[in-house]
Amino acid sequence: MIVKSRLRWVGHVHRIDDHRLPKIVMYSELSSGYREKGAPRKRYKDSLKRTLSACDIDVQGWSDLATDRSAWRCRIQEATTKFEEERITAANNKRLRRDNPTQTPTPHPCRHCSRICRARIGLISHERACRQRHGQPP
Ligand SMILES: [Zn+2]
Repeated sequence: MIVKSRLRWVGHVHRIDDHRLPKIVMYSELSSGYREKGAPRKRYKDSLKRTLSACDIDVQGWSDLATDRSAWRCRIQEATTKFEEERITAANNKRLRRDNPTQTPTPHPCRHCSRICRARIGLISHERACRQRHGQPP
């Protein structure tokens, strides 16, 4: 829904008169290129590029397509439907991978005793305590 609204909005702004403020803002850049502290790292056009790529719309040629309102609406409909299908498929795959892990974790044996840790971070923590217990310097 957000993607669709964003694409509709840029198409609309692209078609309005050049002297209108939203269009001036959309196509302008800061003269210094300087970003204030706390200002977003991404500009509007950066996130638009990402949206266009995600929807498989030509990043360079989108504005030509947007000139024709009905063609643009068709393209948005088609692109967002596909985007949503891919998003759902990806989410389902991610859920399947999470629920059915295929790889077993690599065991991490302690160098000082017979303990085997399942995670490296656990081994680091264990070895710190184990070294002290066995009287070796940390
Ligand atoms: Zn140990």
